[in-house]
Amino acid sequence: MRFITTNSVWALVIFVIILAGLGLGVLTLYQSEISIIGWIWLVTGLTCLLWLMYIYTNAKNNAIEYFSACPICGSSNILAKISWGLSIDDTHEVICQDCGAKWIIKTSGWTGKIKTVKLVKPSDNDAGQEYLGKETDPEFWVTIARKRKQK
Ligand SMILES: [Zn+2]
Repeated sequence: MRFITTNSVWALVIFVIILAGLGLGVLTLYQSEISIIGWIWLVTGLTCLLWLMYIYTNAKNNAIEYFSACPICGSSNILAKISWGLSIDDTHEVICQDCGAKWIIKTSGWTGKIKTVKLVKPSDNDAGQEYLGKETDPEFWVTIARKRKQK
């Protein structure tokens, strides 16, 4: 599985690093009463950075857990695009580069855990057509993969 991180994720990472950096700057330049602002920026920036890393790692691990092999064709040639949205949930794309199937996975913006999985494009030979557009839990696709293997 190959991962692509979209610019929105990097923009957010840069933002929190700048915030922490500004906080550090204020702390170094002014050792007076306003240093509390520096501490707030620094702590907020670092906390957000750690939190982001936690969410990102969870989203990645979840994608690996459920999509290490394509549920439709079994290929491990999978591309996952990890992104960050300005909403409660984040949506990512999982694309099978062998059969062309594409899923949108929705993860919690707080924890990075997968909430729902939706097939938005069936494979190039129309396998999975019957599941198109259905929002399911990730376990559903584990079942599909298992059924395919039994055939
Ligand atoms: Zn596939």
